[in-house]
Amino acid sequence: MEPLLSVNNLEVIYDKVFLAVKGISLEVPQGSIVTLLGANGAGKSTTLKAISGLLGPERGEVTRGVVRFAGRPLDRLPSPRRVALGIAQVLEGRRVFEHLTPEENLLAASTMHRDGAHVRSLIDRIYGYFPRLAERRSTRAGYLSGGEQQMLAIGRALMAEPRLLLLDEPSLGLAPRLVQEIFDIVRRINQEEGVTILLVEQNARAALAIASHGYLMENGRIVMAGPARTLRENPDVREFYLGGG
Ligand code: ATP
Repeated sequence: MEPLLSVNNLEVIYDKVFLAVKGISLEVPQGSIVTLLGANGAGKSTTLKAISGLLGPERGEVTRGVVRFAGRPLDRLPSPRRVALGIAQVLEGRRVFEHLTPEENLLAASTMHRDGAHVRSLIDRIYGYFPRLAERRSTRAGYLSGGEQQMLAIGRALMAEPRLLLLDEPSLGLAPRLVQEIFDIVRRINQEEGVTILLVEQNARAALAIASHGYLMENGRIVMAGPARTLRENPDVREFYLGGG
């Protein structure tokens, strides 16, 4: 069966000259969690943006290669059309509307739905995954903790009822206990909602614990790929990405 997402020979050039992604290929099977690992600046966020259509040729951000989703090439399809097809991205750095409450943030992300009852049931389902957001539904998002804002950012993406969720470093800046909590919820969203997940992370340990497959990126290239278990046991991955041991 064709994977839900496949990326073939993707290249991304910034400012007409800087090759940030140098011909990578990867696959994300329907229903899976796949992780894209690598250090700061390896090209992971750029790869996600190429998939969600957030790169701008008008800004000299040139993309080459083929991205296929649900059986069709995405070509130059603009980002809102990709969202409509079922691709949602949670950007790095938990972008939420800080002056709005969680409830208002979720409502603001619901414009694709016309049925108010459906919107309500989606929001309640999201509160079910993130009870803390429900508790703080009337507090301005700017006053939420980093972990709560990350939860809200994921909730906003879920409002689009995506088939594929692109998550960019959900663990960034969070205490270990919260990282664990968020990753547990990501796993539940995958299992209970059937959402396929491509997870970009620097925290290789946490990501490989929930992913079935992983790709390791260095300097714009994929240097290693395989089942999560194989990567966890690889001596180089252990030394450089799992902090030794
Ligand atoms: P991070 O964890 O910091 O997001 P990353 O692996 O996601 O790292 P990218 O953000 O994709 O890496 O960056 C890859 C390379 O492209 C880096 O060298 C970065 O400096 C460069 N880059 C990223 N965005 C731009 C941009 N808008 N214009 C020019 N260069 C960029």
